[in-house]
Parts: sequence; structure tokens; C-alpha cells
Amino acid sequence: MGRVGTTHTPVTADTIRTWCGTADHLVIKPVIDLHDHIHVDAYEVPDRIKEHLTLRDHTCVFPWCTRPAQSCDTDHVHPFESGGETSTDNTAPLCRRHHRAKAHGRWKLTALSPGSYLWRTPHGLHLRRDHTGTTLLPTSGHT
Ligand SMILES: [Zn+2]
Repeated sequence: MGRVGTTHTPVTADTIRTWCGTADHLVIKPVIDLHDHIHVDAYEVPDRIKEHLTLRDHTCVFPWCTRPAQSCDTDHVHPFESGGETSTDNTAPLCRRHHRAKAHGRWKLTALSPGSYLWRTPHGLHLRRDHTGTTLLPTSGHT
């Protein structure tokens, strides 16, 4: 069993065998375990972390954004300059517009766990974004 990376569509081993016999160009990649923690000692985010994030998060992780992760920037949730590591636990896909909103605006992002994010809006709302979507969280009145 396999899966087409661009569409996430499952395919049978027979289909893969057929492709291998007729395809001019075929890329087979190892299975990525989304429970793995990948970490590098550099600012630049390697492709293996980007692929991990694409498979885990699917889209930009800004509330309600649906832009596909493979066309997003990779953001350091806790800035690298402030000690944030380049890892699957501290990076997230953000489309260019929402990357700028985070970097230059008053939207605050915290990684709750791998693939689960807390956004604090400029108006003090708390929103959780994860694989189930965006959820408005109750706040205690403090931001
Ligand atoms: Zn976005």
C-alpha cells in the first residue's frame, strides 16, 4: 500500500508495480513517522522537516486558512533568534500573508504540541488550530 504525495490518495501495491513498469520518472520516498522528532542545529529548515509538516498539518496553520502546506513558508513558532530550535516541534507552515501577520502584527502563536497551535488574536481571543480545524477557546479575560 502506498499514497500519492500530492493528493494523499491511497494506492495499492499493484498500482505501484504498474507505475514502476511504465513510468518514465518515479520518486519513492521512505515512510515518514509523524511521531518522530526531527531537529537540526541550523536556521534553515531542511526538506525532511518541511515534508513532515506538510503531512502533519496539511495547510497553513493560521486560523481557518486552507492554503496547502506545500506552498507555505516554514515559520519558527518560537523565533530562532530567541533560542527557538529548528525542529518538527517548533516549526509550522504559514502562507506568506499569515507569516507576515505573525511576524509584523500582533497575532501570537504558541505550539501546544506537535500539530496543535494556540493563536492569540490582537483582540484577545484564543484560538486552537489542529488537524480538526480551528476552535475558539474560552478565555479568562486575560490575554
Ligand atoms: Zn494562511
